[in-house]
Amino acid sequence: MLNMNENKEFTHERLTDKLQGLSEKYSFLKLSYIGKSLLGKPIPMITIGDESAKKGVMYVSTHHAMENICTHLMVKFIEEYAECISNGRYAYGINTRVLHKMRQIRVVPMLNPDGVEYRLCGVDESNPLRERLIKYNMGSEDFSHWSANGRGVDLNHNYDAYFEEYKKLESDNNLTPGKTKYSGEAPESENETAALASYIRFNEDKINGLLTFHTQGEEIFYRSRGKEAPKSSFIANRLSKMTGYALSEAEGMASYGGLTDWFIKEFNKPSFTLECGRGINPLDISLAENIYFKLRETLFTFPVLV
Ligand SMILES: [Zn+2]
Repeated sequence: MLNMNENKEFTHERLTDKLQGLSEKYSFLKLSYIGKSLLGKPIPMITIGDESAKKGVMYVSTHHAMENICTHLMVKFIEEYAECISNGRYAYGINTRVLHKMRQIRVVPMLNPDGVEYRLCGVDESNPLRERLIKYNMGSEDFSHWSANGRGVDLNHNYDAYFEEYKKLESDNNLTPGKTKYSGEAPESENETAALASYIRFNEDKINGLLTFHTQGEEIFYRSRGKEAPKSSFIANRLSKMTGYALSEAEGMASYGGLTDWFIKEFNKPSFTLECGRGINPLDISLAENIYFKLRETLFTFPVLV
């Protein structure tokens, strides 16, 4: 039995140590970095799968610092998949060694390491933005409900998808840099989104579908402003059956500037936002095991559905 990394949240440091350890243990796990956060933290990515694989998918987690439980889900999957491959085990009727040959899976477990650090450790004197950040945080030094990146931009509103329209809504709602929902000065203005979007553009031919993990609500979003990519409905229905999650459509402010919106608009390929678990954010890390159990089939099966 694999353990769910104790009941402790991943900081960027713990995550990097863990992924380094796993990539040393399993030579077929490739650890790379897609870029750096605003505060200079390398954003790790694990690639699993043969380079000659014909198709690939990408899993992206923790745009929002409050949703860092999703980092656990990604690490748990990487660990379990690696163990299956090395032991030649099957998962959901899939020979994992064959899957490894046929599909590449790229996993970015923590897109927003700075936000996670603020949330878990607060913002100390060494941060040159400290004063400004406290102002953004409504004068409070309590960052436990911070979701944005290192300078108050909500990364999942910073992609180039209906950005100008969102800007209008934003000014109607007096949204400024802060813990959530502020979209930034321009699409991909943030290091983290720019790094991910550039990586995806450059490797687009190897990414046939995308899953992005958030909390909470047990919902799956797969349409963007009424538009959906080919095969999306079919896959969404399958994912819904596997997870028990409901299919939903984003409305209002949630329907602008997200990774799923951008991926569908830009590449017309299936992308799904999974709102994992139930409760009030941040979900307690002790829930990770149960959430993973519901998502496990999706994580193993999605690569063969695209
Ligand atoms: Zn989220």
